[in-house]
This record gives sequence, structure tokens and C-alpha cells, in this order.
Amino acid sequence: MDYDVIIVGGGHAGVEAALAAVRMGRKAAIVTMDRHKLALMSCNPAIGGIAKSHVVKEVDALGGLMGLAADATGIQFRRLNLSRGAAVWSTRVQADRSHYARFISEYVADIIGVDVIESLAGAILTENGKVAGVRTEDGVTITGKTVIICSGTFLGGLIHIGTKQIKAGRRGEKAAYRLSESLKELGFEVGRLKTGTPPRIDGDSIDFSKCEIQPGHEPIPFFSHRSDRQPFEQTPCYLTYTTDQTKEIVSANQHLSAIFSGQIKSIGPRYCPSIEDKFHRFADKDRHQIFLEPEGNGTNEVYPNGFATSLPEDVQYDAIRTVTGLENVRITQPGYAIEYDYCPAFQVKPSLETRRVRGLFFAGQINGTSGYEEAAGQGLMAGINAVLYIEKEDPFVLDRSQAYIGVMIDDLTTRSTTEPYRLFTSRAEYRLAMREDNARDRLNRFAQKYGLVPEDEYQAFEKLQIQTEEAVRHFKEVRVKVSDLDHRGDRFKKVDSISLEKLLKQPGLTINEALPLIARFNGDIDFTREALERAVISIQYRGYVAKQEREIAKFLKMESEVIPDDFNFASLAGLKQEAKDKFIHFRPGSLGQAGRIEGVTPGDISVLSIHLLRHKRTSK
Ligand SMILES: Cc1cc2nc3c(=O)[nH]c(=O)nc-3n(C[C@H](O)[C@H](O)[C@H](O)COP(=O)(O)OP(=O)(O)OC[C@H]3O[C@@H](n4cnc5c(N)ncnc54)[C@H](O)[C@@H]3O)c2cc1C
Repeated sequence: MDYDVIIVGGGHAGVEAALAAVRMGRKAAIVTMDRHKLALMSCNPAIGGIAKSHVVKEVDALGGLMGLAADATGIQFRRLNLSRGAAVWSTRVQADRSHYARFISEYVADIIGVDVIESLAGAILTENGKVAGVRTEDGVTITGKTVIICSGTFLGGLIHIGTKQIKAGRRGEKAAYRLSESLKELGFEVGRLKTGTPPRIDGDSIDFSKCEIQPGHEPIPFFSHRSDRQPFEQTPCYLTYTTDQTKEIVSANQHLSAIFSGQIKSIGPRYCPSIEDKFHRFADKDRHQIFLEPEGNGTNEVYPNGFATSLPEDVQYDAIRTVTGLENVRITQPGYAIEYDYCPAFQVKPSLETRRVRGLFFAGQINGTSGYEEAAGQGLMAGINAVLYIEKEDPFVLDRSQAYIGVMIDDLTTRSTTEPYRLFTSRAEYRLAMREDNARDRLNRFAQKYGLVPEDEYQAFEKLQIQTEEAVRHFKEVRVKVSDLDHRGDRFKKVDSISLEKLLKQPGLTINEALPLIARFNGDIDFTREALERAVISIQYRGYVAKQEREIAKFLKMESEVIPDDFNFASLAGLKQEAKDKFIHFRPGSLGQAGRIEGVTPGDISVLSIHLLRHKRTSK
């Protein structure tokens, strides 16, 4: 068995990596434990949400699968933050968990033609500092020009439920211990992180009448521009709350939780605390929200989002039965915490190729991230870069002004991981210019350049761009009589009429208010809803984006001051030892990147830039 790209792990990172490699004309194989569990969601079956949805849209713009799969298997579609600006709107799709994995498995193997090899990779093979393939735990050698490790939470996985410990990668699945050893033998630094999940409960035992219904949104906000069909009927989620009794039980048994007993040593995601952690950290809060989210259409299982725990099973039972509406609930699977190995991401370049072994890439949770979307974004980039490595082309690196994917990889490679990394909109400095709605405007040219989308898709998008501009021009021309306006006309009293564009530009006007205004003043002739929405957002954001573009220009100037790969940071005179150590550790690729390393000061950057200038002069 010989491949261009071998991917270890068929999770969210692995499938996007394989897809990109095959789309770029390469022979790829996924070595994974179970061919029927490709991209299986370990935790709640929801794709998207704040900032994560931006990544899904970016993955989609670059020809990836996540958005399409979520749309095809979605049972509830919502758009979050609609009352706020478009920059932070987020799509969130509750998918049918098993259908999602089935859709991906069929797509990857049958439609795209990736070889899926069901086995456990045990060793990474190298020759002269370059990767040469992998050996499975049962002794089969698979050779390859590149290898991408996408092993998720399975490396050295250890599950905790109260005092019980189980060696496993995910509930009921094997852990990968040998691969972890192989990474250590190759000299990689391996750390340990933790995450957790709530118990799953039987929907038939929930009293939904005591909970608040959360319906899906219409029209359906699809992730992918390739989605064209109405999926399953929308299913509601529900909101409920913990009670005083929940607090009492959880607090009284806190010492039995694997997190509090000291049994778990590693750090978990602060933004996603367990229920015992919530009552401990927010002691003044009497109750917490619990979202009841169905796991799919063909199952009664429900995911109580907000109730992650590693308490013993009997305590989980007592505690969850005090939540409103869950008084008689049956647990189908207990909650648990899991510790796993990861490789701190200073060991990878911005292309996600490892610094230590040429042709070896890491993507997904192994780089210290948490989340399906973060993994998918990295997998896609690693897949593209593995092919570019084979073709001896420059790597494809997105910067912080182009994509959330760029923000994430830059954060990972310039900062130390102290807890599982997750994306937030606040991590992106240029978020007004990097919205969900313009992901394709930002990335379509790269998709075309690398052959990630078919030519007709690219051309269809160009048509949409033209239509959007036409709609903007049309809004400028349509005049609206101020006397025809209600309170919206108050600020224009001094004139008889204004352009529709001016009306749409008003601060605080939401898209749901804008679209009826357009229809009323006859501004929607022949434009699709998508073009109209894009035009409104473009009008509302033009001023801010122009301002942000000036900041982006400054940022890009620093990014263009490239630090060569062979630059000797250790020999820099006049630099604080702490800054020197950080530069040696993270090996920044540009002055801009050097400036973002924690603890590095503007003074350190001045010294570095003088040395860089000298280096460039002498190496001419
Ligand atoms: C209990 C739990 C709770 C979580 N909670 C959350 C949460 O609340 N929010 C959130 O955003 N994320 C959460 N996550 C994380 C989320 O599941 C991951 O971030 C995401 O799945 C990572 O994607 P990945 O592609 O890196 O790996 P995974 O999706 O984990 O896939 C890894 C794949 O690699 C395979 N594999 C591993 N090692 C080998 C090997 N040696 N040989 C062959 N195959 C191998 C596995 O079989 C699996 O298919 C949770 C994860 C777990 C386990």
C-alpha cells in the first residue's frame, strides 16, 4: 500500500484533509479505527455556533464537506445573534448524529474515492528526517510521501467516571497508546489535556411541558452554497434549569468528582465547565441553563447540554433528576471526563507541517484545540499543504485578516496552550471584514487556484458577486419619499426623499427589518434573497470595513517582513534572554508573528528588526 497522503484518524480533521488531497489529484488513504464512524461527533451533535460557524463557511468556501454534511443531516437550523451586527451572526445546526457520520462515510469513500483502511496506526515511519509512512499495530506497513496525524482525543485516552478509570479514546472505543509512544520516540513534546461530556438521557422520560421550547428558524439558514434541498423536518430543542436541589447534591458530592478529587491532573476547557465546576466557580448563582438537544430523528436519546460531569454514576442520577422536567429521567449513557495526549503546537509550522519531521503534519485536537469545526479547518489546511509539499510548492497559509482559520493557526503557533483552544469572535481583530456572509468573497480565489471547487461553482459565485453589486447600485438609485416612512423617517425630516441605500444604512436596522423595506420600496426586482442580504450587509459595513482595511494594511506590512527558516535566533545580541528563548521556541516566520508571541515587547521587535535587516543585507 503506497499513497501520496496517509491520514491517521477519520475524525473531522481527517476527512477534510483526505478530501482536499483527493480534490488536488492525489491518492489518499485514511487509516482509522472504524470506517462507519468517520466524523462521528463525540459530544453534542451540533455544528457551528459563535465563531465556529465562520470556520464552517470558510471550509465550505474551500471545497470542504462539513457544511454540506450538516445541512444534509440537520434536524434544527438556527441563526444566532441576529439582533446584533452581521459580523457576529452565527449559524448553528443540530444534526442527526448517526446520519451525519453515515453521510460523511459514504461521501468520502464512495463519492470521492478515498481508501479507508480500518486499523490502528502504531508507529510513524521516517527516513533521513522525512516521513515514510505508518505501521499499524498488527504489523502492516503503509508507505506514503506525507502523513497527517488527526488522532483527536484518542492518544493515551483515559476516561474518568467518579473514581472509575477506563483506558478508552471515546465511550466504548479503543485508545491509541502506541502512536503516542511513537511520537515521543521521534522527539515530540507530548502534553495532556482534558475534556468532558454530559450523560445522555431518554427523551421519552422527559416532561417537556415544564421546559421552554426553542424552535428552529425559517427560512432554513444553510451552511453550504451547495445545499439545495430541504432536509428532515425541523425538531425543537428545549431549555430548562437546574434547581436548588441540584446545587445541593452536586456541591455535597463535589469531592467524588474526578476533577475535584485530584484524580485528573490535566486542564480542561474553562469556557465549557462541568456542572460541578459551575456550582463551584459561580457559587453565587443558584441555577444554570440546561439545553435539551435531540441526538437525531431515529433515536430518543437527548443531549443535556450544560450538564457535563465526571461524578459517579449514582450521583449523576440523583443530580440530573432534580433538573426541572427531568424528575423521572432515565440515563442511557453516563457522563464522563477524558484525559488525552496532545502535541503543543509550537512544534508545527503555520502550514501544520511538523518542524521535526519533514512531510509529517498534525491537524485537529492533537494540536491542542477543541471542537469539530476547529479540527475541520486544520484538516483542510493540512491536506492542501501535504499536496503542496509533495509538489514542492509554497505552503498555503491564511493570515489573520483573511480567515478565522488563519487566526486559529496563528494563535496556535505563537502561543502556549494552557487549555484546549477554542475559537471566539473576540480572537479575530478584523472581524468586521471577516463575516460569515463573505467567506466565499475572501476565499474563493484560493479554492480555484488549488482546484478545490469545480469551475462552474467558481463561475456561479462570480455571478452572485455581480448581482450583489448591481443590487447595491440599484438601492442607490431607488428614491424613497420621507413622508412614506414611519418613525424611520424622523431623522430625514429636512428633505423630501432619500435613497433606499441611505435608509438601509441606518444603525441598528436588522436584516429582518431591511428585507420588507426593500420589498416595499420596490428595490428587490429580480434579485435573489442571498444577493439582497449580501447587498444590505455590504452597505451597512462598507464604512467600517474601509477603516479596518487601513489597519489590515499596517498588519500586512509587518507580516511581509519575513524571517527566513535558517535565521539564527540564538546568536542575536542585545536581546533579553526571555525574548530570545521565546523566539527559539516558537520560531516566528515574520516580524508580525514575532510581535504576537506572549511576553515579547515592542523593544524586542525593534532589536529583532535591526538584526533581520542586517541578515538580509549580508545574505544578498
Ligand atoms: C468526551 C468528549 C467531549 C467533548 N466535548 C466537546 C465540547 O463540548 N465541545 C467541543 O467543541 N468539542 C468537544 N469535544 C472535542 C471534539 O470531539 C473534538 O475536538 C473533535 O472531534 C476533534 O476532531 P479530530 O478530527 O481532531 O479528532 P476526532 O474527531 O476525535 O477523530 C479522531 C479519529 O482518529 C481515530 N484514531 C485515533 N488514533 C488512531 C490510530 N492510532 N489509528 C487509527 N485511527 C486512530 C479515531 O478512531 C477517530 O476516528 C469532546 C470530545 C470528547 C471525547
